Amino acid sequence: MKLTFNKLLLMTGLLSLSMLSCKTGTGTSSDTLTDSIDVDQVEEFNADTAFSYVARQVALGPRVPGTRANEKCAELIISELTRHGADSVFTQKGNLTAFNGDILPVTNITGRFNSRAPKRILVLAHYDTRPWADSDHDEENRSLPIPGANDGASGVAVMLEIARLLGQTAPEVGVDLLFVDVEDYGQAGGFSNHDESWALGTQMWAKSDPYKDDTLPDYGILLDMGGGIGAKFHREFFSDEYAPEIVNKVWGVAAASGYGDRFVNLKGGSVVDDHLFVNEIGIPTIDIIESKHDATGTFSPTWHTLNDDIDNIDRTSLKAAGQTVLNVIYNEKL
Ligand SMILES: [Zn+2]
Repeated sequence: MKLTFNKLLLMTGLLSLSMLSCKTGTGTSSDTLTDSIDVDQVEEFNADTAFSYVARQVALGPRVPGTRANEKCAELIISELTRHGADSVFTQKGNLTAFNGDILPVTNITGRFNSRAPKRILVLAHYDTRPWADSDHDEENRSLPIPGANDGASGVAVMLEIARLLGQTAPEVGVDLLFVDVEDYGQAGGFSNHDESWALGTQMWAKSDPYKDDTLPDYGILLDMGGGIGAKFHREFFSDEYAPEIVNKVWGVAAASGYGDRFVNLKGGSVVDDHLFVNEIGIPTIDIIESKHDATGTFSPTWHTLNDDIDNIDRTSLKAAGQTVLNVIYNEKL
């Protein structure tokens, strides 16, 4: 679907507001999480396996749309989903025009587990990486592509490790794992009228009516930049606007799983990301993302720089994000 003018205005208004609150450093309010959630840890998330999935992606080189490395990353995802026993693995292909006129091939990949269950959850991440390190402190680096260890590879890595475990033990509900392309080819400058230049792969997916023959997932969880050093995940603004009950659920499960120090129950930043466009088609979707780093007040210092490399990936962050999502999945009942 397409954002209407009114919705765009509303969204721009929200963005301006949230930017103000970001600038003034508010973010002290918190929501009450459900007390005493019972969480069974059915499967143990292996952070080493997830880390190796990050390393394998980074070793391909930057996964910029239209490059061979991007294609190889898609092949890696498809072969791992198949190897881990997904019921079905399918791709959606197309061509998109970026804000700067570049024509980009796009391949979105879906792997479905326990797909006959009447209720399902969507988990998604982008696998493409930004073609420009335009936030690098060194001006000479800004036209170079980022390694994308955190911004890109970390979310995919967590999802592939989740896929491995879903293949071992079927959850009660269905799980659709969606790996989207062309998230990070957007126009820098944020917080303005360029929001639709981001998440192009997800926009294409959303417009295609992906669940026309099926019931919509109950909710969605986006994983983005979950592997930073000591990453903390605050409640992202749009997630709380669209799906506060899902934020409460996930942050509650995190606390009950021993990750309350990583899933901070306080307001974070507002992020234009894939979840916006999934919410627009009626799937309440949240973003697990580091959006209020202690040093920067926003993203981690490696964001859109050449330092977004494997040396700045933290297994304990992958573990916190991955085990939490896994516990959410396995504790979901029909
Ligand atoms: Zn990015």
